[in-house]
Amino acid sequence: MSAHCIVAPIDRLAGVALSSNSILIVGGGLGGLTAALALAQRGIASRVLEGAPEFGAIGYGIQFGPNVFHVLDRIGITDAVMEKADRPPAVLMRDALTGNELVRIPTGASLRARFKHPYIVLHRIDLHNALLDACRRMPEITLVSDAMVTGFEQNDEAVMLATADGRQFTGPALVGADGLRSLLRAKLIGDGEPRPIGYVAHRTIVPMSELKADVHRQEVVLWGGPGFHIVHYPLRHGTLFNIVAVFRTSTHGERADVESYRAELQNTYRDAHPAMHDLLAMMDLGRRWQVGDRDPVRLWSQGRVVLMGDAAHPPLQSFAQGACMAIEDGLCLAEMIHGAGGDFAGAFRRFEAARILRTSRLQLESRALWTFYHAEGIARDVRNATVAGWDEAHLHRCLAWLYDGFSLSDGAGRN
Ligand SMILES: Cc1cc2nc3c(=O)[nH]c(=O)nc-3n(C[C@H](O)[C@H](O)[C@H](O)COP(=O)(O)OP(=O)(O)OC[C@H]3O[C@@H](n4cnc5c(N)ncnc54)[C@H](O)[C@@H]3O)c2cc1C
Repeated sequence: MSAHCIVAPIDRLAGVALSSNSILIVGGGLGGLTAALALAQRGIASRVLEGAPEFGAIGYGIQFGPNVFHVLDRIGITDAVMEKADRPPAVLMRDALTGNELVRIPTGASLRARFKHPYIVLHRIDLHNALLDACRRMPEITLVSDAMVTGFEQNDEAVMLATADGRQFTGPALVGADGLRSLLRAKLIGDGEPRPIGYVAHRTIVPMSELKADVHRQEVVLWGGPGFHIVHYPLRHGTLFNIVAVFRTSTHGERADVESYRAELQNTYRDAHPAMHDLLAMMDLGRRWQVGDRDPVRLWSQGRVVLMGDAAHPPLQSFAQGACMAIEDGLCLAEMIHGAGGDFAGAFRRFEAARILRTSRLQLESRALWTFYHAEGIARDVRNATVAGWDEAHLHRCLAWLYDGFSLSDGAGRN
């Protein structure tokens, strides 16, 4: 067998290979599940292998721009998602030092009139459940939890993979939807771990009834400051409040106790507006996430193996669009596979071609936005003076490339 890619040689792994015509999808996150569902709707079977003991999401909030509805409509989960979602009236940016409102993007009727779909926020668990329920209704989809993939091989006819507990699976193609620290990417692209950018994040959800800070409760708000920001918004019909605090740190995410984290936050945010201190006092500092970045790359596939979502093109979180891109990928990939008559390598090349510019632009613009949020000194003055001239029409023009969705002629998406 001429293996194109080997992580751990399969023949040295114990267990009997479970062989089928199901496409193998590694990772049961939003991208992997969307791909499985979209494939099933085209009559194509898949087996989703998730490393965690259960399929599920980390329990924080997520924002969705109007572009994601082009996909949600087509995979039939818009109603289930909207039942759980909150519709903020606006997305705001405030100066973290003065509290002044810098940018206001109304997300009510005018945004819906322009982009045909709403802007929403919702609990990731609710979103995941909507997708999982839809997947479970499809006989073409097999969900396998507790299946941490450790190796794979491919030849001219099939792909074989192995899990940490010694199981083996074969299928006609392999989709790597295994996230930012993708094992499959390590083997296909080999560009190492994501590059730490010196920032970390803490995330918290509190009952809205316990929120004492004098802040907007219905809007999505980003407070941008020199080397730090906070994002907050409501969840579950205004009963919960989601807070994310992100800041530059010289400790680069090293583990420490909660008290030293708190001391570090107090020092980092010392000049921040008083409302931000009230928010920080509510933060659960038990866990912190290191923010990592990757450069855009041109190729995400090799033969019968392809990457998608964060495994292929993870953006910084500044645009709140990484999951939207993973979901768009899922539909586009299914459409390409469906039209390829078993030519997986061709389907994957067309998928790359359809998605590369949009996802790379998001990666690059997310970096620019990161700098914009954290501007200090004269750069902050220039930022604040510049945005003072922006009106809604200008903001719509800036966001059109993203919120208008992507063209079916490239693969899938725009209604
Ligand atoms: C603080 C923060 C806020 C964000 N906010 C937003 C937002 O508001 N809106 C938005 O659109 N995006 C947001 N994002 C980005 C978004 O979370 C990601 O882009 C999205 O989750 C990527 O989806 P994915 O399916 O590609 O990967 P993931 O969601 O990372 O899923 C990968 C899955 O693969 C599994 N896995 C990994 N390795 C293996 C293996 N070897 N074997 C088997 N399974 C494996 C994992 O357990 C996981 O379930 C945010 C990110 C962060 C960090």
